Amino acid sequence: MQATSPPLLDVRGVTLQYKTRQHLVTATYRVDFQVYPGERYILLGPSGCGKTTMLRLIAGLELSSSGRIEIGGRDVTKLGPADRPVSMMFQSYALFPHLNVLGNVMYGLRMAGVATSSAKQRAMQSLDQVGLTSLEGRWPSELSGGQQQRVALARALVVEPAVLLFDEPLSNLDARLRREMRDEIRNLQQRLGLTVAYVTHDQSEAMAVSDHIVVMNHGRIEQHGTPRQLYEQPVNAFIAGFMGEAILFSGVVENDGLHIQVGSLRWALEKPTVVGGVQVAIRPQAWKWIDQNQADRADEYLGIGQQFASLTAKVCKLAYLGNAYEVTVSTDIGEFWFPCESYGRLPQVGEMIQLAIRAHGVNVLAGKA
Ligand code: ADP
Ligand code: MG
Repeated sequence: MQATSPPLLDVRGVTLQYKTRQHLVTATYRVDFQVYPGERYILLGPSGCGKTTMLRLIAGLELSSSGRIEIGGRDVTKLGPADRPVSMMFQSYALFPHLNVLGNVMYGLRMAGVATSSAKQRAMQSLDQVGLTSLEGRWPSELSGGQQQRVALARALVVEPAVLLFDEPLSNLDARLRREMRDEIRNLQQRLGLTVAYVTHDQSEAMAVSDHIVVMNHGRIEQHGTPRQLYEQPVNAFIAGFMGEAILFSGVVENDGLHIQVGSLRWALEKPTVVGGVQVAIRPQAWKWIDQNQADRADEYLGIGQQFASLTAKVCKLAYLGNAYEVTVSTDIGEFWFPCESYGRLPQVGEMIQLAIRAHGVNVLAGKA
């Protein structure tokens, strides 16, 4: 799809600074990304990284100080919100309390001058799309959180925007509803072929709803790609730590560029890497306790030739998590934890054990040590 159709939303070099009394805050800095028709595009990042600002810039609620935004091939950089073909769904649903469900959904159309009868017809159709057909006469205060969410969704859909913008739409819902609404938004997106830019700070939510994720930090894009690319090939320590859990260790790549040493662990690298000090991000799941005769599965582990690398570790603490134990160990490369299945033999506190590492879940990050 991406090769044949032009992007529906094209953001190029967009920068926005807020001037506060004390200083200048750079909310977005030279942000570049493209969203293609029918795609779910996620902006992910910690609180304060510029996600809401980015959506407000796309919606025209803020004007960028540099760069260009195109929607459907049209330059909208200097246009106000009313002239942009987008709908934004906010963190709080912001339903009008003095209007009933139908009134809320019709509101945007009435403002745009659509005649009452046709606005009503379109609003009913949109309520049908979100599964609220029989509730059009209710007041917002008579609805559950999930229902309010759906009204907000119908209200965003009814104006038939080219791009739907969602700003953390699930953050006010409890865990069960969050999952339900997440799936619902995803189904609706697919059924109606909607193009969506979706903002969240929740990495698991992003991985569940998206085709493509952009990770932002301090107003900049750190990396973008599919959920899998971000998880398996993080380009830096921030991404490794943000997309799931990873602990950073200092390592040294030897002069041949093909071997690495991390404390007493030494293994051969798959591809030549920059020589010198590096950071190695290791996911807790990559560590494996080598109990008794498991050495026959040596090809799973990092090492040199047939010999896999192992690390001596002293067990400090066991924490029961239900499906696994979290085992905290102290080693010559520091203290860290790894998961251990809760059936079978468990290591004991104070015991000295050997740990090997699986290649999957280990990333050598070029750059600083
Ligand atoms: P996010 O949605 O990722 O949490 P925001 O886009 O809301 O982040 O904010 C990005 C940065 O811009 C933050 O440092 C925030 O404090 C700042 N900021 C946001 N809105 C304003 C504003 N109206 N005035 C000044 N600074 C702002
Ligand atoms: Mg925000």
